[in-house]
Amino acid sequence: MGKSSGKKWYSWYFDFNLLYRILIGLVLGVILGLVFKDKILWIQPLGDLFVRLLKMIMMPIIVSTLIVGASSVSPANLGKVGIRIIVLYLITSAVAVVIGLIMGAIFQPSANLAMENVADAAARIAATPKLSDTLLAIVPTSILQSLVNEAVLAVIFAALIMGIAISYLRVSGDERKEKAAAVLYNFFDGVAEVMMLIIKGIMQYAPIGVLSLVSVVFATNGPKVVGSLGVVTAACFIGYALHVIIVYLGMVKFYARLPIKRFFRDAKDPFITAFVTRSSNGTLPVTMEAAENLGVHKDIYSFSLPLGATINMDGTAIYQGVCATFIAFSVWGHGFSIPQMGIIVVTATLASIGTAGVPGAGAIMLLLVLDSVGLPVTAGSVVAGAYAMILGIDALLDMGRTALNVTGDLSCTTTVASRMKELDMKKWAK
Ligand code: ASP
Repeated sequence: MGKSSGKKWYSWYFDFNLLYRILIGLVLGVILGLVFKDKILWIQPLGDLFVRLLKMIMMPIIVSTLIVGASSVSPANLGKVGIRIIVLYLITSAVAVVIGLIMGAIFQPSANLAMENVADAAARIAATPKLSDTLLAIVPTSILQSLVNEAVLAVIFAALIMGIAISYLRVSGDERKEKAAAVLYNFFDGVAEVMMLIIKGIMQYAPIGVLSLVSVVFATNGPKVVGSLGVVTAACFIGYALHVIIVYLGMVKFYARLPIKRFFRDAKDPFITAFVTRSSNGTLPVTMEAAENLGVHKDIYSFSLPLGATINMDGTAIYQGVCATFIAFSVWGHGFSIPQMGIIVVTATLASIGTAGVPGAGAIMLLLVLDSVGLPVTAGSVVAGAYAMILGIDALLDMGRTALNVTGDLSCTTTVASRMKELDMKKWAK
């Protein structure tokens, strides 16, 4: 204190561009993980701290932004935005499954089964959700309980309903009701703003969190990736890349008629954050800031992005297509028939909707997809062995699919905003 120069010994850290700091953390993490292997695992708590900080604000952000989002759109507009964004989310997810299946058919990944992870797979089998249960669970029996249990879909459902109700009350014409609705709206708006400020602070810790998370992934998975699972990894990542090029670039350039370069200037921040945190929900604040910088009207993104972070999972859909094919080839020695592929497109699209935006959730929903085509993962079975192998590299696959998941949310949101003329084009002139 008392010194007027203002420069502290740690000032250099905060003065340095955040994105570069995160990238340096990423590269250092890869190097440390590969070089020190097991010896670097002590670093894990530093990464866990980052994930915990993000998770801490996850539920308040989802609730506040969704309620504000749904209630700040007029009832007439809500229908228009809602239907457009949901249709776009569904179409892109279905296309993603098809790309995943095509990648699987081209690469034909197959494995000599290593059974060592079977116990782990068996533990997950117990947790296999039935499709009807997954869908029913969207409607909470207790809103508070679903908040406490972090049942994201149920919370989203309740928040949306509340937001929609507030939006109707705000234009009800009854002064008392309109005032009451305004109080609620302002309250949740305040919560949302506070959360956004907190996330700015948390992001200052991101470079260290990233370094730690990435080094642990590479320390535990590094060498395995080069084996037969390397093919699965390559098929997934090429699928992810194709989806970005064909679907997102195509949509932004030709449907929204916007310059790609400008889009990616802001889209890269959530892309990188998702890549390292492996959580669409955790990345949500960063995705929102990107949407803001892209000039998307708050009415749209505060509604579409939290929704997308939970129901729009294109990367997860591709992953499910590729991994189901890998398991089929490993177990049957051949891939899927056309009707089976049709079933996978439907179930994987639904499964990706039901996948929570948290690390590793897609691997659990993969069980649903496998079940639908006669590849049930049962304890000790060959299918379980193949599935266990996938689990071994899940962290790596999850990084790519989560990055894609959030880029999909941002692409669809920007596209809908542009089509509805709700995009501040001044931000695109720069
Ligand atoms: N980790 C992914 C996400 O948060 C979900 C998944 O595991 O596929 O978007």
